[in-house]
Formats: sequence, structure tokens, C-alpha cells
Amino acid sequence: MIEEKFDAIVVGAGMSGNAAALAMAKRGMKVLQLERGEYAGSKNVQGAILYADMLEKLIPDFRDDAPLERHLVEQRFWMMDDRSHVGVHYRSEDFNEERPNRYTIIRAQFDKWFSSKVREAGATVLCETTVTELVRDANGKVIGVRTDRRDGEIHADVVVLAEGVNGLLGTRARLRERPKPDKVALAVKEMHFLPRETIEARFNLKGDEGVVVEAAGTISCGMTGMGFIYANKECISIGIGCIVADFQSTAETPYGLLDRFKRHPSVAPLIEGSEVKEYSAHLIPEGGYKAIPQLYGEGWVVV
Ligand SMILES: Cc1cc2nc3c(=O)[nH]c(=O)nc-3n(C[C@H](O)[C@H](O)[C@H](O)COP(=O)(O)OP(=O)(O)OC[C@H]3O[C@@H](n4cnc5c(N)ncnc54)[C@H](O)[C@@H]3O)c2cc1C
Repeated sequence: MIEEKFDAIVVGAGMSGNAAALAMAKRGMKVLQLERGEYAGSKNVQGAILYADMLEKLIPDFRDDAPLERHLVEQRFWMMDDRSHVGVHYRSEDFNEERPNRYTIIRAQFDKWFSSKVREAGATVLCETTVTELVRDANGKVIGVRTDRRDGEIHADVVVLAEGVNGLLGTRARLRERPKPDKVALAVKEMHFLPRETIEARFNLKGDEGVVVEAAGTISCGMTGMGFIYANKECISIGIGCIVADFQSTAETPYGLLDRFKRHPSVAPLIEGSEVKEYSAHLIPEGGYKAIPQLYGEGWVVV
């Protein structure tokens, strides 16, 4: 066991874990953050659109050095059939403001930056460390965690579970139920690299302007789901996700849907000639308010 005791142990260095660790460290708490990935963000998947309001509260000057891709000046929504789409687009010069509030980001880069802020605030961040179980006292109160490292038991006043949608640790500790198949979507995503000028010409952008497309219709083959296309500086994120219970009741596969989406005549010209450098898959919680598990108990809190 590690003798040193912490005010808080944060499990996970995604958006929630980094926000929690930063907020506590800034208030002078002694914080240990444990992340199973090689570095913060190495395991994380998102479209990704960053809605800046909350981040701005935590790090008011984040725009100075955060790895932001493009600020959004246009949102498109497409309703698609097999060969065509009808679209609603909203674009405004007003979004070319001094402090835009929506950006595309790449999580592997963004989380690394966010984690550097957590360290600067004084927290200890330990990567390549998986929390395997929660430690309880005789009364059942959570008093720490056990990890996959040798002598891996560490104690704290509170354990913050920021482990993401799967919640394996919380499920094993019976703090929450496993996510139900009708309350989560499975999404797959690819990153298509193209020269910056090509992306700007294809999406009608200049400078760091960005656009995102959300799409629904026959692309989800009758299942509840959506596709998305987000313009980054030098790549395009394209993906599709559907409710897991729907996949269970059809013969469709997530990668089959993505291939079909990419071949659609409205989509193919946008990614033509690109090089795919990343492929990822992840669950997304879709159960809404009613699917939120209990968020706290004796010695633990979920974020
Ligand atoms: C394809 C896709 C597109 C999305 N698009 C958007 C979007 O555009 N905008 C938006 O706001 N949201 C979007 N989301 C949702 C968004 O990604 C999630 O809401 C967000 O990542 C949740 O953050 P989190 O910190 O709770 O979990 P995560 O980001 O999943 O982070 C959890 C962290 O905990 C670590 N971890 C887990 N278990 C352990 C353990 N036992 N020990 C140590 N570490 C552990 C993981 O490695 C990970 O780093 C999207 C999601 C997907 C999949």
C-alpha cells in the first residue's frame, strides 16, 4: 500500500476527470488522478465539438494555448435517402466573434493539453495505471482504490469516478448498473486527412472557420442513430452511431453503416482522395436524465 493519503483520487483523465481534478487542485486539495491510457486522451473518442462555456469557467484564457481546430460558423442538418439529401443550414458571420463558443477538437490532443493544466494546478497525474477496484472500510465506506501496480492500494477521503460511459469500476462495486443496450449508442469514427486548402474549398471556409454536418435518414438502416461530418484543420472526422439494442435486432454492423455513409453521393466528394489515419469506436450514453445513476455515496462521487 502507498502510505501517502490524498484528499481525492480521480479515476480517469477524460473531460470529466480533468475538470474535476483541475477544480479540486485549484482549491488547494491534494489530488491524485489515475488514467489507464498511455497519456490522457489516448483512449478517448469524440466527434468532436467542444462547447466552450464550462471550460471557460474553469480556464478563462483557454483560447490562448488549447489545441483547438476550427471555430464553428455553420451547422448543417441533412435528412438523407439513399441518393439525395435535404438540408437545413445555419451560417452566420456573427460566429466569427472574438470569443467563439463552439470549436472542433481532436481529443487525443485536447485531453493532453487539459491534463497539463491539471498538473500545473498541482495534482499528481499517473498514467498507465488501471484502477481495478474500490477499497472500503468495515462500514462499507469507500476509502480508496486498488490499482494494477504493485503495492497498488491508495487511500483518499473521496474517490471521484470519472471512468466514462462503460462505468466498469462502478458496476463492479455495485454503485451503478451496467448501461442498458437501449440506453447507449455505439459509434464508429474515422479521421480523413486532406490538405487544409482542400477542406476549406470543399466546405466553403476561410482561415480557422469550421462547419459541422449532422445527418439522419436511410443511412441508419431503420435504426435510431445519426451520422456526422466535422471539419478540422487538416482532417475530416466522419462517423455514425446507432442504439446498441437496434444493432442487436438487425444484421447491420457499425463499420458497414460507416462504409455506406461514406459512399453516399452527398458525402463521397467531401472525403475524396483523403488518407484515413485513425479508426475508433466508442459507446455514447443516450438514456437522458432517467439513465443517470446515483451520483454519490459514502466516500465516492460520479462525474
Ligand atoms: C463518436 C462520438 C462522438 C461524440 N461527439 C461529441 C461531441 O461532438 N460533443 C460532445 O460534447 N460530446 C460528444 N461525445 C460524447 C463525449 O465523448 C463524452 O460525453 C465524453 O467523452 C465523456 O467524458 P468522460 O470524461 O465522462 O469519459 P471519457 O472521455 O470516456 O474518459 C474516461 C477516462 O477514464 C479512463 N478510465 C476508464 N476506466 C478506468 C480505470 N478503471 N482506471 C483508470 N482509468 C480509467 C479512460 O481511459 C478515459 O481516459 C461523443 C462521443 C462519441 C463516442
